[in-house]
Amino acid sequence: MSKAIVQGFIVLATFAIAIFCLTQINWMKMLHVESSLQKLEESLGDRVFNSLRLDADEIHGANAALDSMLHKLCEANNLENTIELHVLHSDEVNAFALPGNKMVFYSALITEAENADEVAGVMAHELAHIKQNHVMKSLVQQFGLQFLFSAVSGNAAEAFSSVTQFLSTNAFSRDMEKEADLIGLAYLEKAKVNPAAFVNFMVKLDSIQKEEGLSLYSWLSTHPDGIDRSEYLSEKINPDKSHYESIISEETWSDMIARLNEFEK
Ligand SMILES: [Zn+2]
Repeated sequence: MSKAIVQGFIVLATFAIAIFCLTQINWMKMLHVESSLQKLEESLGDRVFNSLRLDADEIHGANAALDSMLHKLCEANNLENTIELHVLHSDEVNAFALPGNKMVFYSALITEAENADEVAGVMAHELAHIKQNHVMKSLVQQFGLQFLFSAVSGNAAEAFSSVTQFLSTNAFSRDMEKEADLIGLAYLEKAKVNPAAFVNFMVKLDSIQKEEGLSLYSWLSTHPDGIDRSEYLSEKINPDKSHYESIISEETWSDMIARLNEFEK
């Protein structure tokens, strides 16, 4: 009887050790794969950002205001703020997410906005793309992992220009865009920022683009159907506006705009 118990223990111990070893192996492998993917993402983000900087100067003086907006959005939503924000001087009205948690705003998108809450809407939308891992999902879908790994390991300028072009234009599927809209709206609500400002901004850009046919309104052309989107977003907006407050003070906003205008001179 006691022999059977000992044998039973041995069998159980062998199983336990085998399972332990297997989980260790998988864990090590997973860690390795995860760190390779993370390195790929960081490297892609750096390379793409460097290629953008060849055509557009970075404006450092606007970061404080944008950083405090981002901080507010992240804090209210319990999100880890690992985002690296950049403002580039460009007359293209655009903002987009890059691999490696980078978010790029072109100065014209900020100066085109009437207030900080309009910019906060775009920021919340791009933050949702980053937090939902849309950037890498789309890149892998479009180019394949092998292409991306070889692009970062070699000196493939052409490969990078297609990746950069993709990220600053039509990177995401309609489903991803809708998801980013709805999650972004929830982020704004939690941060007590009125999402109606985002909807108004979208409708305004849409009408300017239609009337004047400006090709510089890239954010809108990469985020089409502004009117349809404004409809489904408007349905979700809390009609009680009493709890909303501006994401940053009027003064911080004016200082940022002054800094951007100074750069124009
Ligand atoms: Zn988007």
